Amino acid sequence: CKMIRHTINLKERSYPICITTNFDELGKAVLSLRTGKKVMIVTDENVDGFHSEECISRLEESGFEVYKHVLVPGEEHKTIDAVYGIYKKLIEYKLDRSSSLVALGGGVVGDISGFAAATYMRGINFIQIPTTLLSQADSSVGGKTGVDFDGHKNAVGAFYQPKLVYMNVNTIKTLPKREVSAGLAEVIKHGFIMDEEFCEYLNYNAQKIFAFDENVLQFLAKRNVSIKGSVVEQDEKEDDLRAVLNLGHTIGHAIETARNFELLHGECVAIGMVGAFKLSRYMDILPESVVDQVKAMLVKLELPVSLPGMDVDRVFDQIFYDKKVKDNKLKFILPRKIGEVFQCTIEDTGLLKKVLFDLA
Ligand code: NAD
Ligand code: ZN
Repeated sequence: CKMIRHTINLKERSYPICITTNFDELGKAVLSLRTGKKVMIVTDENVDGFHSEECISRLEESGFEVYKHVLVPGEEHKTIDAVYGIYKKLIEYKLDRSSSLVALGGGVVGDISGFAAATYMRGINFIQIPTTLLSQADSSVGGKTGVDFDGHKNAVGAFYQPKLVYMNVNTIKTLPKREVSAGLAEVIKHGFIMDEEFCEYLNYNAQKIFAFDENVLQFLAKRNVSIKGSVVEQDEKEDDLRAVLNLGHTIGHAIETARNFELLHGECVAIGMVGAFKLSRYMDILPESVVDQVKAMLVKLELPVSLPGMDVDRVFDQIFYDKKVKDNKLKFILPRKIGEVFQCTIEDTGLLKKVLFDLA
């Protein structure tokens, strides 16, 4: 196997991302961080049966003293209670500031564990082992951690960078297909933002992705990490530049909430991205043919491009509750073409409504 190494360079420090096809070098990678011997793996019930045992063996072979804590899976358990449970175990097993906390799982496990790592003893070493396409492409890179609170998504959290991200791309083989597609929405989003060629690559290799071709998966992870990494390197704390990552998310989040989370986040983002392209279309920034091309690409990745029966008024109102709406001015990330976006304030909300009707 060939390991691909990428480094994220931030103002205060940098950290490595290993993109590989197995767990063979996990022990070595963690050893190179020169941290203490104690490690606690946090995972969830779904991931535990597939990957914990091997990760634990690899770490023990390298001399680590490994503990494990298993969370109940699901966004509805991304709560402060889950963090409380982790603190209890960290104290029980006597982990200190030299110890490491490893998140083995998807974005939910990563966000919860990262927040626990950021706050336990004012910060202990944090390592991410993302096991969903979404977490490999998106959430494991960038340092956002946190939990939902009283129904408010990601209401409590911290920016906290991991010491290491170890991606075994083969872990996604056990993911339900719907989760793979949802992850692909964030993957192709990176292409829509700044890499037209990558979109073409995804379009061409869609079948190989669903067949879990190792080389294709490794390439995907590499491109994602370098695109998201480059944005985060320039704007770690989301001032302006990092906002480009929100393509499709204004409409997407509104649909997600209006539909009470019955659709996966990535599915809503896919519909939201079609909406963003349509907005650009109505503003004469790009032709209808590009909207059609984008839809065809999303369909190939088995993603929805509309939501028949959608309650337009409800989604419209929800958009205004979105945290990015200030003084009734809607800030949107809009495409100029495939591979280039810009930030734009939408004054004509009638146009937005027209787009939502198109999507419904
Ligand atoms: P998830 O962690 O809930 O994983 C999806 C499902 O797949 C879960 O049921 C999980 O148990 C299961 N699973 C995970 N890995 C598996 C595997 N290898 N095989 C079989 N099943 C597996 O969800 P997700 O889509 O990975 O992440 C979504 C979360 O990420 C949201 O809470 C979102 O807010 C967050 N997020 C964070 C950032 C960030 O920058 N921190 C960015 C995007 C999303
Ligand atoms: Zn997203």
